[in-house]
Amino acid sequence: MSFTLAIVGRPNVGKSTLFNRLVGKKLALVDDQPGVTRDLREGAARLGALRFTVLDTAGLEDATDDSLQGRMRRLTERAVAMADASLFLIDGRAGITPNDTLFAEILRRSGRPVILGVNKAEGRQGEAGVLEAYALGLGEPIALSAEHGEGLGELAMALAPLIEAAEDKLAAVEEAETDVDIDADLDGEDEVRRITPSRPLQIAVVGRPNAGKSTLINRILGEDRLLTGPEAGITRDAIAVPVTWDGTPMRIFDTAGMRKKAKVQEKLEKLSVADGLRAVKFAEVVVVLLDAAIPFEAQDLRIADLAEREGRAVVIAVNKWDLEDDKQDKLKALKEMFDLHLPQLKGAPLVTVSAMTGRGLDRLHAAILKAHEVWNRRVSTARLNRWLAAMTEAHPPPAPGGRRIRLRYMTQAKTRPPGFVVMCSHPDKLPDSYSRYLVNGLRQDFDMPGTPIRLYLRSQA
Ligand code: GDP
Ligand code: GDP
Repeated sequence: MSFTLAIVGRPNVGKSTLFNRLVGKKLALVDDQPGVTRDLREGAARLGALRFTVLDTAGLEDATDDSLQGRMRRLTERAVAMADASLFLIDGRAGITPNDTLFAEILRRSGRPVILGVNKAEGRQGEAGVLEAYALGLGEPIALSAEHGEGLGELAMALAPLIEAAEDKLAAVEEAETDVDIDADLDGEDEVRRITPSRPLQIAVVGRPNAGKSTLINRILGEDRLLTGPEAGITRDAIAVPVTWDGTPMRIFDTAGMRKKAKVQEKLEKLSVADGLRAVKFAEVVVVLLDAAIPFEAQDLRIADLAEREGRAVVIAVNKWDLEDDKQDKLKALKEMFDLHLPQLKGAPLVTVSAMTGRGLDRLHAAILKAHEVWNRRVSTARLNRWLAAMTEAHPPPAPGGRRIRLRYMTQAKTRPPGFVVMCSHPDKLPDSYSRYLVNGLRQDFDMPGTPIRLYLRSQA
């Protein structure tokens, strides 16, 4: 039985658009069965490496205004009851309407897992909607654009643990049914493993052609005895390879397949950036692989910047280190270039490796784990507010026109990457330099090197 996700929300928020995107061409319409599924569309969905069934509450548009609320409510309740989890969509441009609040109530009462999606959030347009959506009390909203395919990586990350938990539960039931003595056989280790299923860490290796991506991935795979073969990835060209690297389950998005195609089309540069982009969207940690002989080329910088803008944890790996003679001087020069060219990634780990000999791969592994941990980190509100008080005292915000901008309160609204909301008077007047002061301070004082940090200023008089 496949995991089922219900897409719910009021008409026009983009449910069908998202349904079609998840189901693609293999659309399965189930519209001829009376009762249960007449108003529900069902399809086989794929998202990155995930496979599941998706339900869409279609057919609402036919309802008249009077009956709309009642029908919407019944249909939604039915879809939610039939599904393992729901994706509740709101329209990020329209803001939260009374009908959205009604849905939130139905979903909260259902007691089932809910993912909150803020649709129509392409570009930067969704930011306000995302912040507003916190008020629904359904956890961290995900900014989506069903039409442009944005935010799908985040959606996959939110879904993966739910699907895994459901599969674990099913496996446990099946196991218990086939072996009545299962409890007697359990030793402590097994129990721990069952309770905390390890979720593969999603990484992408990106970089210019010939940097050594294929060599690196093959080297990592070569050391893995548990390799189970490639999975079909999000497209034919981006393949997710499951691997256990030094005991850490990972899924590596391999983009090497694009290379041949690119050469034929003689658009090498352009295509490999588009290719990297796809991998970046589905990764948690992005390894930007540089060639030590030609580091920080324009193309490398573009892809590193992209990973930062997409909010991914970044590790810079400098490859072909075996070819360098004066390693100490070279490393110093590399660090200077890094600071100069990628200030937005200040503090991100830079490790030297040789994909060919395997040297430095242990350090790369450690850097990936550390970057992932920082990316997931959460700071308590109490600590943040003590910190904010000290920061504003050490260096008070400016007072444009004689009225001091007050920063009143701060909380961490999200992780992956860390995002902080600061309540302040006149947020539009706070200079960027002050925001940077706060972001750099957060990075340093809470030990969050190399992860993108988002700061949202919200108005509160
Ligand atoms: P449903 O009634 O919830 O199933 O909504 P639809 O999928 O029919 O979409 C309603 C309208 O919103 C359509 O005109 C879509 O083209 C538009 N739409 C859907 N997703 C997006 C999006 O991500 N961005 C924008 N700008 N429009 C979208
Ligand atoms: P990709 O295009 O990024 O996938 O790069 P490849 O993995 O195909 O590597 C390009 C070339 O660099 C090949 O000739 C590799 O043998 C070579 N290469 C890759 N890694 C290393 C390394 O660590 N040291 C040396 N000396 N050569 C390497």
